[in-house]
Amino acid sequence: MANTILIVGAGEAGGQSAIVLRQSGFDGRVVIVGDETYVPYERPPLSKAYLAGEAPLEKMFLRAPEFYDTQKIELMLGRRISAIDRGARTARFDNGDSLAFDKLVLATGGRVRTLSCPGATLPGVHYLRTIADVAAYRERLAAGARIAIVGGGYIGLEVAAVATKRGCAVTVLEALPLVLNRVVAPEVSRFYMDVHRGAGVAIHTETAVTAFTGTSRVEHVICGNSRFPADLVIVGIGIVPNVELAKDAGLAVDNGIVVDEFTRTSDPDIYAVGDCTNHPSPSVGGRLRLESVHNALAQGKAAALHIVGKAEAYNEVPWFWSDQYDLKLQMTGISKPGDTVVIRGSMADRKFSACYLRDGRLVAVNAINMAKDFIQSKKLIAARSVVDPLRLADASVPLKDLAPVA
Ligand SMILES: Cc1cc2nc3c(=O)[nH]c(=O)nc-3n(C[C@H](O)[C@H](O)[C@H](O)COP(=O)(O)OP(=O)(O)OC[C@H]3O[C@@H](n4cnc5c(N)ncnc54)[C@H](O)[C@@H]3O)c2cc1C
Repeated sequence: MANTILIVGAGEAGGQSAIVLRQSGFDGRVVIVGDETYVPYERPPLSKAYLAGEAPLEKMFLRAPEFYDTQKIELMLGRRISAIDRGARTARFDNGDSLAFDKLVLATGGRVRTLSCPGATLPGVHYLRTIADVAAYRERLAAGARIAIVGGGYIGLEVAAVATKRGCAVTVLEALPLVLNRVVAPEVSRFYMDVHRGAGVAIHTETAVTAFTGTSRVEHVICGNSRFPADLVIVGIGIVPNVELAKDAGLAVDNGIVVDEFTRTSDPDIYAVGDCTNHPSPSVGGRLRLESVHNALAQGKAAALHIVGKAEAYNEVPWFWSDQYDLKLQMTGISKPGDTVVIRGSMADRKFSACYLRDGRLVAVNAINMAKDFIQSKKLIAARSVVDPLRLADASVPLKDLAPVA
């Protein structure tokens, strides 16, 4: 069995790989190298409770810092791996040091996509991916502050909800015609826009940022001929997967590091897990790169189990959640434009599910304050079940009772 497992990236996927290695009885050397200075932590609270000042830092840690000592997991934090030599089975740090490995797990995640328009580097223009990002501006989310959010995706909207709750004057600027454009049906997008507008958020769609202006820090966001005043700007326009290490080492990369259902890359001794991977997803019927906690944890586990010889294929239905105001959105499966959308429940009561059918089969569900639909939809989606749209539309019929039509 391998002696040294090197994990590059101390996020949830990397942390979980180490945890499961030890849980599975691996007693060799486990090293996690991470360029942030924190033990592996959960990012979702960064745009929710932690941003709101309602959750302490320690609550985000995957495990308490002492855990790693007790489990003899070596943490090398604030350190960065800059190259991998596959032939020599070594990884090189950016200061020139190197570390030998028997098996390598790439858990490098993603970095924020940045804007390059004029003024984009002005103080006061921020992003949201790390604890350090939030620490730089959380205190500025105070009553009366004018917050401009660039990007109406999940992160932008979650920040909008938190900032509104803290009494800020919030403007969301979205380049596309609808918020959450890529991921939910137009009816769900419009529902979220109504909710945010009802809470006082100004949402401007088809409004792309062209510049930021200000003297010593940002004062305005410029979108063509329009100008929006801002004391603070938070940009949430997606991430870019960190694939460079893999690519430079000659591993297969295609919108993520290409892995199989056991998270193996094109090199049998190198695994990749989490946001940085492009992996097979049988329930989706193809390959995908996914940015979700569940995916990061499940792939982290799959890599560890494969390393210790207890391989379990990772083929679960993708899922994700988003909290905004009193709305818990839980999403299973992946929808596409052109899917037939069936709404069950009541949008007016803020309790409904948008169900997506493709060729009559249930492929995705967005459950809004409908926890049971979320839970019960997973099986139907995994089985690619054909369901009766009329019964599906009846919220009094539990999803689990929707016997497959064929
Ligand atoms: C604000 C926010 C809110 C979110 N909310 C949700 C949610 O509600 N639900 C949900 O399911 N998901 C959510 N996500 C997504 C989820 O957090 C990610 O899918 C998950 O964190 C991915 O984990 P990961 O370990 O793959 O990658 P990451 O978390 O990106 O971790 C990778 C780590 O590796 C480090 N690294 C990269 N390259 C190197 C290198 N060469 N050397 C050393 N270190 C390196 C990176 O700096 C980073 O620390 C959210 C994400 C964010 C940012």
